[in-house]
Amino acid sequence: MDLVYHIEHVSYSYVKGVRALNDVTFDVYQNEILSILGSNGSGKSTLLQLLCGLLFPEEGQIFYKDELVTEKKLKSGKFQQSFRSEVGFIFQNSEVQLFCPTVFDELVFGPLQLNIPEEEAIQRAEEVLQLMRIDNIRNRPVYMLSGGERKKVAIAAVLTMNPQVIIFDEPMSGLDPKSRAFIIDLLFELNQAGKTIILATHHLELVSILQSRVAVLNEKHKLEKIAPAVDILNDTELLVNTNLISEYPHRHEHTIHKHLWPGYNFHRHE
Ligand code: ADP
Ligand code: MG
Repeated sequence: MDLVYHIEHVSYSYVKGVRALNDVTFDVYQNEILSILGSNGSGKSTLLQLLCGLLFPEEGQIFYKDELVTEKKLKSGKFQQSFRSEVGFIFQNSEVQLFCPTVFDELVFGPLQLNIPEEEAIQRAEEVLQLMRIDNIRNRPVYMLSGGERKKVAIAAVLTMNPQVIIFDEPMSGLDPKSRAFIIDLLFELNQAGKTIILATHHLELVSILQSRVAVLNEKHKLEKIAPAVDILNDTELLVNTNLISEYPHRHEHTIHKHLWPGYNFHRHE
């Protein structure tokens, strides 16, 4: 299988001496879905920002298609051009990603930055407006959108750049069930169209639905295990130790008691 990323002993600290990501090594293959799973603060967003060249390793190295990713190479030149057009990043918080006056402007901004002719940029925006079912809000200013709409626009703004690799931080956050289902459909569709997808989540349910390969980060910001979803979801000890499942109090008529919450693997086929 073709390698997209090789991540080798990568560490990162925001504050000197305090690791946010600690000695992480793994590979990402072409056209796979890889879920980065970890509790709050485990280092998922940091890792994704390193993968898309917004942050750079303090120690270790990241290779994108065999080429070492460095800050210098991403400032200008051929590698910058190809990397920026091939790798798309959807932030955890859509607010920081959107800054144009209207939704439509937002969608053409990326392609124009990549020097794609205006006519094609507009055509791509039109297609993505349909795909994401946001044509009805095309002329709205971004501040007049709901959280779910904003997320869809943030995704759309990345899709108009037609990246090969989509890096998606917390795709489910802040969305209602219908919007979540829409995003899950979209993830499968993009993957089937050949995209490599790397996403971060703390939702076991999403991992269970996607049945992707899963990289689990622990609370020491290290890679605890990388394996197919079934192996991760069946490893209760791992899930408890990495704070991904916990004992919840709940009520049965007159008593309140606690046990591990197994909700994520419960579903019906009707
Ligand atoms: P996750 O996405 O898994 O919740 P993050 O990657 O956001 O985790 O954070 C990893 C660690 O880095 C946490 O301990 C967090 O407090 C710290 N951190 C994240 N962003 C910053 C920042 N901008 N400045 C300082 N520390 C940060
Ligand atoms: Mg995060």
